[in-house]
Amino acid sequence: SKRGDLRAEAAESVDSPGFLLTSVEKLAGLAQARSLWPVTMGLACCAIEMMATAGPRFDLSRFGWEVFRASPRHADVMIVSGRVSHKMAPVIRNVYDSMPEPKWVISMGACASSGGIFNNYAVVQGCDHVVPVDIYLPGCPPRPEMLINAMLELTRQIENKPLFRHREEIARAVEAAALAA
Ligand code: SF4
Repeated sequence: SKRGDLRAEAAESVDSPGFLLTSVEKLAGLAQARSLWPVTMGLACCAIEMMATAGPRFDLSRFGWEVFRASPRHADVMIVSGRVSHKMAPVIRNVYDSMPEPKWVISMGACASSGGIFNNYAVVQGCDHVVPVDIYLPGCPPRPEMLINAMLELTRQIENKPLFRHREEIARAVEAAALAA
């Protein structure tokens, strides 16, 4: 019967060697994706839209993302909102390095992603020269709905990611554990 088939399938998956790790990964992904805390990284006009996204009209708290943190130690996502000046670049990198793993970056708007209209000596031509970017969001500025859409896309990525995303992440975690020991 169909029910018997399902039972057999479930028993088989519980017995499979990857079952425990897969379940832990799923749980960790669900928890991480639904309680992301962005670090405050408003750099220019795009930041106004980012702040509006957190306000009552667009109500980011519906998705569990509303707790913007002033300390990078308490944050796991950075929304680079606005153009990145060369003077600001080391500060952004410093804040990123201070955030605990795992962490993610959204590049919000044309300026953050490519320098936008500021093709000049003072502006970094894309924040991915400074930090690794997970989501690029176009627009000048992107509307709050677009930022929410980017966040939901990131949520989906986090839910489905392996517990450690890259080799470097594993290396960094091992290094941090060695330093702490
Ligand atoms: Fe300002 Fe447009 Fe650049 Fe955003 S993309 S920082 S709105 S100029």
